[in-house]
Order: sequence, then C-alpha cells, then structure tokens
Amino acid sequence: MPILDFLFPNRCLNCNRIIDKSEVICEVCFPKINFTNHNYNGSNTLKDKLLLQFPVVNAYSLLYYEKESLAQNIIQQLKYNKREKIGKNLANWVTERIDFHNHKPDIITTVPLHRRKLKQRGYNQLHLFGNELSKFYNIPVNHTLLERTTHAKAQAKKNQSERLKTKNAYQLTQRINDKHILLIDDVYTTGNTISNIAWEILNNSKNVKISILVMAMDV
Ligand SMILES: [Zn+2]
Repeated sequence: MPILDFLFPNRCLNCNRIIDKSEVICEVCFPKINFTNHNYNGSNTLKDKLLLQFPVVNAYSLLYYEKESLAQNIIQQLKYNKREKIGKNLANWVTERIDFHNHKPDIITTVPLHRRKLKQRGYNQLHLFGNELSKFYNIPVNHTLLERTTHAKAQAKKNQSERLKTKNAYQLTQRINDKHILLIDDVYTTGNTISNIAWEILNNSKNVKISILVMAMDV
C-alpha cells in the first residue's frame, strides 16, 4: 500500500468508513443514494419539465438532488472539493442503468464553464463524466461544441436594456447538422442553462435532435 493511502485512506463520503480508493460511498450507505430510476427512452419527470422549455427527445437524471441528501453531498464534493474523480463513479452508475437501445445519440457534449470559473476550479466537473460515458457507449464526445460567452456576475451588473442586448450566454462554435446530440449537465434546477443551449443549437443547425442527461435534478 502506498504510504499516502495508508496515512490518508479513502473514506466513505457519508459515514467515513475506509473504502477502496476507486469508490466514493461504502456498501452500507449506497442504498441511501436516491436514484431516480428514470426510463431514458420513455417519459419521466425530467422529460416532462424539459418539454415545457424545448422539444427534447429523451431525458434522464441519475439522482434526485435534495437538500442535505447524499446525492447533494456527492455532487458538491465533485464540484467544490477538487474531487474530479467522482465523475467517473457517477458515469459508472449511469452505465449500469441506461441502455440506449436504438435511441443512441451521435455526439455527447457538455455545458461549458466560463474561463474564470474553470481556472478557479481547475477542471470542468462534466468532462471526466462525459468521457467515461463516451468510452462505455462508444459515442464521440466534444467538449468544445459550445462556448460560454459571458460571465454570470458581469451579466448581473448590467442594467436590463444592456442585458437584453446580450446574446445567448452560450454559443455554438461550429455548425452541426443531422445529428442527435446528448447534452450533459450536473444539476437540473430551473432548466435555464439547458434550454438556452438547446435553443442555441436548434436555431443554428438543421435537422438536429437534442436529448439531456444530468447527474441530478432538483425536486
Ligand atoms: Zn458509508
């Protein structure tokens, strides 16, 4: 055992029990994770919500994101505590649950972070997750299909008319036609980000379909 693993063993996020370093949650706590059990190819609560925002094809959320829940803890560790590798665990849980059948998307893409945020965090929490899904399902992944053009804070400082003039905060970096795109994000709350991106893609491409996969959805 490497000395650092001995001094700082990997521990369950929930109960602190020592676990294998490839895991995040111990076997005892695992059943406490609130999986949605969504049907990717059918209807579910996320798809119902998204259909009010844009013509989504398929939608799936792995977890329910409840306050103080284990799901929230897992995603916060991934996003704010430099635990990028959790993206791999989340991807594994997706692959154990989704079979695309004949609804397999052509490309996987991820919601981009603004440069400043990326610098702060050191990584985009969706990249490893997306890469693992790409490998497992054999679907190409493209993390640069979209670009974050404005920073949320800068946006908030503008007055209303300035804000109206601002274009979509997300821009397509290349034309993409005749493809079924699977867009990945971490947590679905209002759906504003996802629908802004979806409309940016739909308005600037021909014959595209958009499906959504998120790590968790707010309930
Ligand atoms: Zn535990």
